[in-house]
Amino acid sequence: MPETCALLDSCGFFKKYRSSSDLACKGFIAKYCRGQQMSECKRKQYRQQHGAPPPDEMMPSGVTIKTD
Ligand code: SF4
Repeated sequence: MPETCALLDSCGFFKKYRSSSDLACKGFIAKYCRGQQMSECKRKQYRQQHGAPPPDEMMPSGVTIKTD
């Protein structure tokens, strides 16, 4: 299994939150984008189902957050 998600460079969530100091975002990136739950990412599943990426604010867990 690769060490990082193959979609990193094209993932809106990762691009938007990669430098975030928010602990939840950091946790998601560590667990999903660079971790063992990579294959369970709901953003990935969304892409497959809809043929298009989900909103950037949708977390890998499938929850959409409000950032304002
Ligand atoms: S959020 Fe999901 S699709 Fe995006 S980089 Fe992380 S693991 Fe990959």
